[in-house]
Amino acid sequence: MSEGERLTELAKRRGFYFPSSSAYGGAAGFWTYGPQGAALKSNIEDAWRDRYVVKEGHQEISAPDVMPEPVFEASGHLDGFDDMIVECGECGATHRADHLVEDNTDIEEAESLPNEEVMDLIADHGIECPSCHTSLADQPVDNFNLMFETNIGPGSSSPGYLRPETAQGIFVEFPQLSEYARNQLPFGVAQIGKAYRNEISPRKSLVRVREFTQAELEHFIDPEEDEPPLADVADVVLPLYSAAAQESEDGGMQELTVREAVDEGVVESEWVAYYLGVSKEWYERIGVDMDRFRYRQHLAGERAHYASDCWDAESEVDGDWIEITGFAYRGDYDLSKHAKHSGEDYTVFKQYDEPITVERATVDPDMSYLGPEFGGSAGAVADALEALAERNPDAFDGDEVTVEIDGESHTVPVDKTNFSVDEVTENGEHIRPHVVEPSFGVSRIIYTVLAHSYETDEVDGEERAYLDLPPEQAPTTVGVFPLMDKDGMADLATDIAEDLRTAGLSVTYDDSGAIGRRYRRQDEVGTPYCVTVDYESLEDNEVTVRERDTTEQKRLPIDGLADRLEQLASGELTFDDL
Ligand code: AMP
Repeated sequence: MSEGERLTELAKRRGFYFPSSSAYGGAAGFWTYGPQGAALKSNIEDAWRDRYVVKEGHQEISAPDVMPEPVFEASGHLDGFDDMIVECGECGATHRADHLVEDNTDIEEAESLPNEEVMDLIADHGIECPSCHTSLADQPVDNFNLMFETNIGPGSSSPGYLRPETAQGIFVEFPQLSEYARNQLPFGVAQIGKAYRNEISPRKSLVRVREFTQAELEHFIDPEEDEPPLADVADVVLPLYSAAAQESEDGGMQELTVREAVDEGVVESEWVAYYLGVSKEWYERIGVDMDRFRYRQHLAGERAHYASDCWDAESEVDGDWIEITGFAYRGDYDLSKHAKHSGEDYTVFKQYDEPITVERATVDPDMSYLGPEFGGSAGAVADALEALAERNPDAFDGDEVTVEIDGESHTVPVDKTNFSVDEVTENGEHIRPHVVEPSFGVSRIIYTVLAHSYETDEVDGEERAYLDLPPEQAPTTVGVFPLMDKDGMADLATDIAEDLRTAGLSVTYDDSGAIGRRYRRQDEVGTPYCVTVDYESLEDNEVTVRERDTTEQKRLPIDGLADRLEQLASGELTFDDL
């Protein structure tokens, strides 16, 4: 059984996650988190919030899942959020064309190739339809937009889309969010929420789904002035797989500290390097196995054109590398797009330390001349003159000045532009912030953490499976068992469970079956500690506390038990210290 299959089996049996709506045949790519999974997910989200919102001093928002069409026209998703699709001429099944190429050749990132090349590769390698095994040679490779469309209100006049990423809910609200940050850069806005992508072929349970949770941070910075607190993570060692290494024959992974990665230019942006360092520590904290983890730089063809430096955090499961987080320096792309499409102001006013006096070239075009001369284009000509005066005042040196609009030249006598250069005092300027974005896929992180925490050993001559989840992430912190349901043991155990819950611990009470089986059940969901009430407990007010990984047991007084368990769970105390 592969790691993935074993995980899917365990996930369903123990209540981590399972396919949704199966009573009606289900729908591929939709999963329900059961009680264990929902608790794990919420613990991972809390750990993310703690690190990226609270500790960084950022703000969190919650935007709608449905947004109107103009948002995605501006963001570029309507036109370009596509995957490559190929349809089988025989059975009609549709497949992700680049994935077929990756599965059947040595090529690792076929997504970055043009459609025609993918079509040729399918033909050259005799790739067949995975459903009916008919050759897919000569089948066209088309673009398929991944957004789920809906209608806002009755009728179809107001199309909307389920957001394919949470980020747009932040970018589009920038003017308002900037006000909340008192228009002071840098500031970060985070969001944990659902994203929807109508994937062509959902696969590997939580890895490629159609509805998933993202945790995204948009950090708005002044590119001229703001620097990340690199010293905080300078010594963190990053396992880096650079684009150059991927493209060279013998290139492999490099282990560099954050500082070295920046100094040697392996990671171009200090901001991206900072977040790689922060995230490395965070992944360790939540239970990602660092021997099965790397940061891979995007190849040139993979990178969105606006993103100057892009790295993915990748985890290994079943020998495959899975992108769990994307780190991108997005420049001012998103805010510029929304400014252009909405006409709103997506800048912040940057106050100078001291007011400065500058020469400012302005125009005040004579519309009684431009109107008759240029008709419907007169307004555009006036705007172009204004932009030109700002950009290149020397253009107004002669008798005439020429501006280009949509490839057409318009010439205006300079005296009709009322061109002048004046000295003005300026207190500051409007600047468009740049954005650094770490974008985490929570579902893939859950999958990774579960796969990486799965361990087996032998206990009392029997094989045992357990999840060595960090206590902070484990769905349940303590399992409480009465050895038997008699002589007051159950009552005492129930009281202890209540007390532990009151103290804020997550507790499961279990009185069914042999004690060994109850331990196994908790082991399989990663519960780090179990407390057993036995006959002796009724006499000496002590209980047996068992640690999951070592299965070691110790007697502890009931009095103060909640404190001890909290200290164990937080790492303040080790089991050996007890
Ligand atoms: P992207 O915007 O494509 O870089 O995605 C950001 C993050 O969302 C990725 O790093 C993944 O962890 C996650 N993600 C993207 N697509 C999916 C999907 N179909 N299913 C689960 N997670 C996804």
